[in-house]
Amino acid sequence: MIRRELPGTKEPYLLRAGEGERHLVGGLLTTAIARSQDTGDLVDLVVVSGGKGAAFPAHRHATWHEALLVLEGRVDLSIDGVVHSLGAGDYANLPPGTRHGFTCRRHQTRMLTWTIGGAGSALYARLGEPYRGFVCPPADGRQVTAAQLQQVSGDVDVTVDPAAPAGARVVSVVDLPDTAVPFVLEQGEGTRLLVADQLFTFLGHQGNSHGQFITLMTAGPRGERIPMHFHEKHTETFFCVHGAMTMWANGQEVSLLPGDFMHVPAGTVHSYRLDGHDTRFMGVLTPGLFEPFFRTLGDPYEPHQFPLEPWPFRMDRVGPRMHEFDLKFVEDPRAVPKRGES
Ligand code: FE
Repeated sequence: MIRRELPGTKEPYLLRAGEGERHLVGGLLTTAIARSQDTGDLVDLVVVSGGKGAAFPAHRHATWHEALLVLEGRVDLSIDGVVHSLGAGDYANLPPGTRHGFTCRRHQTRMLTWTIGGAGSALYARLGEPYRGFVCPPADGRQVTAAQLQQVSGDVDVTVDPAAPAGARVVSVVDLPDTAVPFVLEQGEGTRLLVADQLFTFLGHQGNSHGQFITLMTAGPRGERIPMHFHEKHTETFFCVHGAMTMWANGQEVSLLPGDFMHVPAGTVHSYRLDGHDTRFMGVLTPGLFEPFFRTLGDPYEPHQFPLEPWPFRMDRVGPRMHEFDLKFVEDPRAVPKRGES
């Protein structure tokens, strides 16, 4: 059976939207959906939500790489003293040493954040208090202060570093940089590849994190299941952003709706199928070594929306190079049963 709670050890599990380890941190609700102990120290994911004005002071981490995707609302994110006003779908890459802090600018603001090489969940647990609710409570004026952050800096990789905010500006980066620099990426932008009917968009490639992870947004129409497979080396995470999908993991079938999360560590036999007419899910794949597979299978694609008619599924390009990829099929990829077939 797939577990339905944070396991505390590296194994597959499913969490429904809102579930996870929850803390109140000033005016923010932090919901850890994958702590480093749940992923074998590969990645640590936390959903952060806050009301208008809720904020986190500027700071930096010496060794942690952070990234975030805004899910809802608006966030003013200061990065090395420049404030970027981010809306839903906007993405930020924050390599170690980047000075950053944020303020929520809408009453229901929510973002998915993650840390590689560290544990944002541990920082929030140190700063906050456990909370049994599932949504951020009404604002009571409390904020995390730089002094509180300073107090935990001996135990956690965090250094308080007040930013010098300028006026907010809308994100404008539309091409991924080659290297591990801080950047913000506008919703829908990134390196786009089409695989049959699905649009794969890299929000971060290996070069943006020294190979530690890739961030991939997958979008597509209601379709058929992909071949059942597993990976020997890398962990996959699935966070449903829009629409509806079905996942299979170690023989169990589960449906995912927006906000639902599935952890699929190496060795887990898995597959997915998009069920909604416009379904999107975000994946952090770590380490990032699986990138060449997508670049081999996918065709470069300029538009920002998947097409009406699917393009050819280019398994013919993958087949001869299978030994290069961290991928093992457990069924014939050319004979996957369709909906209604057994
Ligand atoms: Fe996979």
